[in-house]
Amino acid sequence: MTPQVVVRVIEERHSVVAESGAGERAGFSDDAYRQVGAEVVADPYPGAELVVVVGPPSVEQAMSFPEGCALVGFLDPFTATDLVSVLTGRRITSFAMESIPRTTLAQTMDALSSQATAAGYHAVLLAAAATPRFFPMLTTAAGTIPPVKLLVLGAGVAGLQAIATARRLGAAVSAYDIRPEVREQIESLGARFVAAPVDESAAAATGYAKEVSDETQRRQQDALVSVVEDSDVVVTTAQIPGSPAPLLVSREMVERMRPGSVIVDVAAPSGGNCELTRPGETIEHNGVTILGPTDLPSRVAHDASQMYSRNVAAFVSRITGENGEQVFDFANQIVSEACITHDGKVTHPVVRRAMGLEVET
Ligand code: NAD
Repeated sequence: MTPQVVVRVIEERHSVVAESGAGERAGFSDDAYRQVGAEVVADPYPGAELVVVVGPPSVEQAMSFPEGCALVGFLDPFTATDLVSVLTGRRITSFAMESIPRTTLAQTMDALSSQATAAGYHAVLLAAAATPRFFPMLTTAAGTIPPVKLLVLGAGVAGLQAIATARRLGAAVSAYDIRPEVREQIESLGARFVAAPVDESAAAATGYAKEVSDETQRRQQDALVSVVEDSDVVVTTAQIPGSPAPLLVSREMVERMRPGSVIVDVAAPSGGNCELTRPGETIEHNGVTILGPTDLPSRVAHDASQMYSRNVAAFVSRITGENGEQVFDFANQIVSEACITHDGKVTHPVVRRAMGLEVET
């Protein structure tokens, strides 16, 4: 939580204890927390009734949380099953920010969107720094330089932000998404929609894309070959929640790109959209630079933290009563869907399935 948000939380009758140095790398000093009324200590867990984190705590950390407290943050509950076991063992009521439904009512708490916004924005800046070209068209005494040709694959929250950022920098942008309804959003940002297979049924009821068949994937790649080949920069952002990222850019497609071209694979944390992406690394293949950053929001830490902490504070309000006490209203869809563990049990059906536990139907 940033100091600005701590003010609001204290107004809601909570007292706040911050871990010393927690905000330092995002530009929030211990003093800034003290100035707004938080206590700053080396070990903030003893006595905590609610622990707020950014990413999943380690098993050791979770062991030091007070029994029966509540926990809110990105918890990666579908893979961090060891952590989930510790949480049930300590009767911790945990809420995962990534499990909050993407509904209009929960928009202020949608940390997936706020962090994807940061990721899409910064991905384009990385591309701008890595390409040997100017982004905008430049008309100078030394001649006219055409704008960089930038392709965005996957136009969800991160992709749309990447388009907007690239347009502001003057790039000529085209974009593609499997969900046909995104075409209008792409065009309204001044980008060209790439004609490649779209799938009316690709959007699940949740609004997310579903996994496509091998045949559709092959048709997608065939349709994208020439546009990838003709691009100076490709920013890939296509993801499917709970599954590996779809493969959109094959090794052969990379080998047809011009030397000096750049790929930034925003989907690297879930395996990447490019066959050659190595998550967390930057590699070069036949003169093409391929970046696989896995920490994009952290690279815009100040503003990503401001957004994240507003999301978290909105959720904390939802589980707070008039006198600052915790109230878990499980009849509320946002609270029930975000809940992973409560009262010594795993409550989330998808996490139960991942852990091989019985799921009530
Ligand atoms: P995401 O990160 O899961 O995926 C990014 C994009 O990749 C999506 O647009 C998806 O369609 C696309 N994609 C997946 N497989 C693909 C493939 N094989 N080829 C091409 N593209 C592919 O998505 P996200 O950014 O988290 O957004 C998911 C959905 O949730 C969107 O429809 C978005 O509008 C919606 N949403 C709704 C709200 C709200 O109503 N409050 C808030 C945020 C997002």
